[in-house]
Amino acid sequence: MSNAAATSIQRRGFLLVLSSPSGAGKTTLSRRLLEDNADFVMSVSATTRAARENELEGRDYYFVKDAEFDAMVDRREFLEHAVVFDHRYGTPSKPVFEALEGGHCVLFDIDWQGTQQLTENVREDVVTVFLLPPSLDELARRLKARGLDSEDVVQTRMAKAVDEISHWREYDYILVNHDLEETAAQLQMIVGAERLRLERQTGLSDFVRTLT
Ligand code: 5GP
Repeated sequence: MSNAAATSIQRRGFLLVLSSPSGAGKTTLSRRLLEDNADFVMSVSATTRAARENELEGRDYYFVKDAEFDAMVDRREFLEHAVVFDHRYGTPSKPVFEALEGGHCVLFDIDWQGTQQLTENVREDVVTVFLLPPSLDELARRLKARGLDSEDVVQTRMAKAVDEISHWREYDYILVNHDLEETAAQLQMIVGAERLRLERQTGLSDFVRTLT
């Protein structure tokens, strides 16, 4: 392929959803994916829950009051929104479309409810991945080890994990996180394959015309 032909194959970005029960390794995998793929940006959600220690406004979440969240819903600023663990979470639409228009891919850490809405709203651009823990015991161990939540909250998260896991069939890809390195490599394979999908290589028709 000549360089001129190769550069005519422009790419269209996509939206990558990574869902899992808390503690399955999602945060670490997301960080890795962003480090390894310069064209990816993370979608920053708005939430009504309080910030945890080490969380930064605008980097981890936009922390808003209920009334502000209501106003954002009324102004139709969310691509999706849902109640998770008694708090409200929503994905602001504007940065997502700006990123796509800028040729970027966007990574989402949202639950199954948000994934359903996102898939309905922007179907052809969404790729969904569900991350499963190797066992419930391991999930409990990881939740306790990270020490972010009180014992009560850990118990609630374990109960919710079973509910979250029940939605695994609604996703395009399923990863079981036995080993972080291996799972990160598998996630990267998914990204690589999705980049090659016909509809994401927007300049392909012109290029193929040069071959026929
Ligand atoms: P955490 O409070 O631990 O940061 O997140 C709790 C859950 O809320 C996670 O399962 C996460 O995927 C989900 N979540 C975070 N942001 C959003 C969002 O914007 N929309 C939806 N639907 N879920 C979200």
